[in-house]
Amino acid sequence: MRVLVLNCGSSSVKFAVIDTVSKEALSSGLVENIGVDGHFKGKGPVDKQDYNFDCPTHAEAVAAVQKYLGEQNLIDGIEAIGHRVVHGGKYIKSEKVTQEVIDYIRSITLFAPLHEPAHATGMECAMKFFPTLPQVAVFDTAFHQTMPRKAFLYGIPYKFYEDDAIRRYGFHGTSHRFVTAEAAAILGKKPEECCFITAHLGNGSSCSAILNGKCADTTMGFTPLDGLIMGTRSGSIDPAILFFISKKYGYDIDRLDKMVNKESGLLGLSGLSNDMRTLSQAASEGHVGAQIAIETFCYKLAREIGGIAMALPRIDALVFTGGIGENSFLVRKTVMENLKLLGYEIDDDRNMKSGKESNHLISKDGTPKAMVVATNEELLIALDTEAMAK
Ligand code: ADP
Repeated sequence: MRVLVLNCGSSSVKFAVIDTVSKEALSSGLVENIGVDGHFKGKGPVDKQDYNFDCPTHAEAVAAVQKYLGEQNLIDGIEAIGHRVVHGGKYIKSEKVTQEVIDYIRSITLFAPLHEPAHATGMECAMKFFPTLPQVAVFDTAFHQTMPRKAFLYGIPYKFYEDDAIRRYGFHGTSHRFVTAEAAAILGKKPEECCFITAHLGNGSSCSAILNGKCADTTMGFTPLDGLIMGTRSGSIDPAILFFISKKYGYDIDRLDKMVNKESGLLGLSGLSNDMRTLSQAASEGHVGAQIAIETFCYKLAREIGGIAMALPRIDALVFTGGIGENSFLVRKTVMENLKLLGYEIDDDRNMKSGKESNHLISKDGTPKAMVVATNEELLIALDTEAMAK
């Protein structure tokens, strides 16, 4: 099946046309700056395009995607649309898009204020522009719904869970689910026979404990701010730090929100960049801020891995994925050096190769397995869409 995968953000629409048989993307691109001054970028079998245009709302963005796919001779072959949705609230699996699903996504706007209204609007636009195609919503949180209560509750008054559904939800579920299946296949097993720690490390980062193929615990929480140190997000901090800064510097809630979401993490620690490539280069040239940021990122990651490992009886493999996990030799090596208690030992040669040449393995023979597995969230969204749309 050919599936159009849409990821509608607050000011952008990303798209990809995935062939679920070849597992290839036939076309991909994005519209950015919706509401400001639209910018389209796309590549497909006919041509690449890159232009500015008037794009006041998501409707113009979806129309631009439809027009481009028509020009790439792809439009008639598309049989279904899969939508990436950041927060699925109560949903435990992917759902066919109906008005009820759209209304529910809008009703949980407070959970992800920038994303949920954009997802709902994107679905309505896609229904308008592609009225005959079945549509499926695939939620970043759904894979984590198997966490037991002791893992998803926070130590705050229970009424906030009962009345307001404040709990750990977890994110990047599509990626954790995808690499779980891939890692199991590499080991020649079924996912339900495997226990993994999966580390998705990108601009946003999270780690999950996978028990017999299902999520038993994860580091992101009520929002994607919790857990690991990220590009610009702080990850978990002592909440009293916010009270202190507010009292001392007069920061209001919006200013604190900006500080922990946009000014912290690798960027805040290094004072230089949120980008691991830039930081690795700078650290090797002696930039102290970059060295501090990488060292802290890797230690805190190892510390969280040690924590969520307690959800498992054993670890069949530690799986690295995401832009940093798939590409940074330095981060993988440093993290594993911090995991000696669990017996991890990196094989430098395999780590430099990673990828398929080392059958994904980066650990030494005879030591606990660590591996690199490339994630493909669009493919999983397309496969779920195919399964649900039939
Ligand atoms: P997103 O969360 O936005 O999808 P990605 O998964 O693409 O992000 O990851 C982006 C991160 O991956 C950036 O910090 C980038 O520097 C890092 N990255 C990509 N390639 C490399 C590389 N070769 N070495 C180190 N870091 C890399």
